[in-house]
Amino acid sequence: MSELIDHLKQVLQSLDRPLIQENECWNSTEDLQSDIEHVRLILQQAGIRKGDRVLLGLPNSYRFIAIYFAILSAGAVAVPINPRMPVSELQTFLRRCCPAGGFLTEKQSAGLIEPYTSQKVLTARLILKESKLNYLKWKHRDRTEQRLLTESPEPLENDPAVLLYTSGTTGRPKAVGLSHGQIYAAAQNIIWAHRLTSKDIVYSFLPLFHINAQVVGLISPCLSGGKLIIAPKFSASRFWNVVNGQHVTWVSAVPAVLSILLHTGAPDHISSGLRFVRSASAPLPLLHAQQFEKKFGVPVIESYGMTEAASQICVNPLPPEKRVLGSVGLPVGLSLQIVDEQDHVLPSRETGEIVIRGKNVITHYVEADNQDDFRNGWFHTGDIGYVNEEGYVFIIGRKKELINRGGEKISPYEVEEAIRQLPEVKQVAVIGLQDPLYGEKVVAYAVPGPGRATEHLAEKILDHCRQTLSDYKCPAGVEIVDRIPTGPTGKIQRSLLKKQIIAGREIIQEKSL
Ligand code: AMP
Repeated sequence: MSELIDHLKQVLQSLDRPLIQENECWNSTEDLQSDIEHVRLILQQAGIRKGDRVLLGLPNSYRFIAIYFAILSAGAVAVPINPRMPVSELQTFLRRCCPAGGFLTEKQSAGLIEPYTSQKVLTARLILKESKLNYLKWKHRDRTEQRLLTESPEPLENDPAVLLYTSGTTGRPKAVGLSHGQIYAAAQNIIWAHRLTSKDIVYSFLPLFHINAQVVGLISPCLSGGKLIIAPKFSASRFWNVVNGQHVTWVSAVPAVLSILLHTGAPDHISSGLRFVRSASAPLPLLHAQQFEKKFGVPVIESYGMTEAASQICVNPLPPEKRVLGSVGLPVGLSLQIVDEQDHVLPSRETGEIVIRGKNVITHYVEADNQDDFRNGWFHTGDIGYVNEEGYVFIIGRKKELINRGGEKISPYEVEEAIRQLPEVKQVAVIGLQDPLYGEKVVAYAVPGPGRATEHLAEKILDHCRQTLSDYKCPAGVEIVDRIPTGPTGKIQRSLLKKQIIAGREIIQEKSL
């Protein structure tokens, strides 16, 4: 049995105690243990075998957690997806991922049942904590195969546990298959770096379909014997009440959350038990970190992570050790180097690409056309930065073209592909522009086809995006333009377009001053 599952079992089998709070009700270790068994049985009855992919498209909830752990302990592979993914995006996803079954929201299941009836879709209802779940089964298995599941061994270290798709540097999203061993190694690094113990209570509201929330906000607290308070999403109005009322000791957040809290009122007092607020997934503006610490008197711990590293890569040490605001901290439990274009290692303070390797870092993508990011035993992150003399890492940019909107990574290609479906659009380029709250926002520039009316085209593009893409991927703005810069081969040049837009804005601002 993998260490991850073995450790989890030990935690759940020891003294019965409150573990996960949802809607102000505690679910105990015993509840979780029996619910995991319940879901395991359902998976077994549905014919899910070791290594099968099982979609998990539910919002943050106790149900999500019970199903997630059940999939992992059954030796199947959890594929968490955005519960608000529109059906058209989900269909493309299904064709690529080929899951054996899945747990989806009512809305997603309703949209899928229709096209999949020809493939013997079975819908089973599972009552777990009085909530209905839709379990969809795509693969039909005969009885012999069914028996195999019952006999199949438990998951081992190198067996895949989770499959996630990340916005790639180019083209299609890349499939990241994380093994039980990689996830366990990442959780150990997090527990050590944050000194997590059974006395800790984390407030977890980041979306569980991302690796950060899974490993930082769920697995690490569970394995360290702590408790967690799960919320479907961040709520500024509820935040301090929960922190104070539930004796929260740490919070797993992203920069946009800190920024929102900075701009909302401070409570009369803040529980002295709150040890730190952790920030991950996107650059944390130095000023925000300073202002947050000053206003609330709580240390901000900036970290740097990636799906390919099963979450955490670097993190700042906890006080009284030295924290460097503006740095993503020190590498924990893995090796990190800065290399130049020729992959030569650079000395401290010199800027280059961040490369990593370690027990929690993947060594290849699943079903990928190329594995160029893995060279000489190192994974090339696509992030640009440097390391100072004391080993603190600073990120200053990225080679990859993805857009980071408040921690959600968006591939410009995917949004462009959606917009290109409209016959009115001749050419389109999607770029990320600065945004005061989310760090970056998605903006689309479209050239209409010859003779096509430009009136209402921007609204039409936006409408189309809202119907076909997850909400966070939809452009914040669409501009209709005459031309988009292209290279000699006709390829659109996003970075040049971005430079032109930024330069254009500066000129306009200068004029208006
Ligand atoms: P994901 O795989 O979705 O977690 O995205 C990983 C990417 O998020 C990294 O490669 C970075 O580009 C970005 N990222 C994560 N943490 C930070 C941070 N603290 N500062 C800047 N970028 C970050």
